[in-house]
Amino acid sequence: MKKLAVLFALLIVTSLQAKIVEESFYIQTDDQKTFEMLKSRPELTIDHIEKGGFELYGPKGLGEFLDNNNIPHFSMKIAGMKARGQYPSPEEIEKELRSVTNAYPEITSMFSIGKSVKGRDLWVIKLSNNVKENDSRPEFKYIANMHGDEIVGREMMVRLIKDLAQNYGKDPQITNLLDRVQIYIMPSMNPDGAAASSRGNAKYVDLNRDFPDHTTSDNKDVTDGRQLETQAVMNWQKTRNFVLSANFHGGAEVANYPWDTAAEKFPKEALVKEFCLEYAGLTPYMSASTSFKNGITNGYAWYEVNGGMQDWSIKYRNDLQITIEVSNTKWPEYTKVDYYYKENKAALLRFIERAIP
Ligand SMILES: [Zn+2]
Repeated sequence: MKKLAVLFALLIVTSLQAKIVEESFYIQTDDQKTFEMLKSRPELTIDHIEKGGFELYGPKGLGEFLDNNNIPHFSMKIAGMKARGQYPSPEEIEKELRSVTNAYPEITSMFSIGKSVKGRDLWVIKLSNNVKENDSRPEFKYIANMHGDEIVGREMMVRLIKDLAQNYGKDPQITNLLDRVQIYIMPSMNPDGAAASSRGNAKYVDLNRDFPDHTTSDNKDVTDGRQLETQAVMNWQKTRNFVLSANFHGGAEVANYPWDTAAEKFPKEALVKEFCLEYAGLTPYMSASTSFKNGITNGYAWYEVNGGMQDWSIKYRNDLQITIEVSNTKWPEYTKVDYYYKENKAALLRFIERAIP
């Protein structure tokens, strides 16, 4: 017990800079004291709180710590293990993106905004009827899979890219979108995590806790000391002028609006709430949620996130962003992915339309 306490004290020191996610567990308890104790430990990350439990992430030794404290838990690595092998690899995703952009060179382009820790390209697809130029039309962005083990968003983005490319000039709504908006889609911000089925990147860092945060001491808008994937997004956003965006997660089914990091009311709360109500309203299983009224939530009211991408985008880049939690199951059977895309499609298209002034 004593040895373990020392081990944990050491881990706290080494992980103060970044949220390390080497071990992941689902904690099965509603006990408030246990929750508060875990929440108070700076090296741990709590996510997706619901009735009956929550997710808990931390450095090596976390499982042993939970065992020793008799906290009911099970490993998140094991859940959904069977389905993981059914999903494409980052390299297969890259191939698929390349084949779409090769087939539609007039309206699509594919470029990398940087490299992951393991040297994988961080691909972005741009779609527009004037794709080779940057013009004055509004810039819109979707980013998925920043948590490597939340994979359904990535699959939805690949399907959306294909749908937009294949139906330009055929479907009036899609045609209008590409005529009036410059659309950027990044299916996977964390390909290393996706390949390893892990939340963090190859350095076990939680990318959605790695951005500058205006409410904490880590509030400088600098890339020093951050992960390569975070740096790539930060640098890219400096060169663009996104007006509206969403980022996709998994492990819950809800549309989440800012702030995530503080209780203070977001100045445009009525508008972002309306976006979320509309997104969930157009996504039948989301609006039917029994966990979230109308399928939406304020981020902070659900649980606090420091260093998240959503709040950084808004505060530091004036890019209005909401967060979509796509599926309760992080790795559903692969055949179920088409269902999620079908259910979300109207909402995905409508949200892009919202960028049109
Ligand atoms: Zn996530």
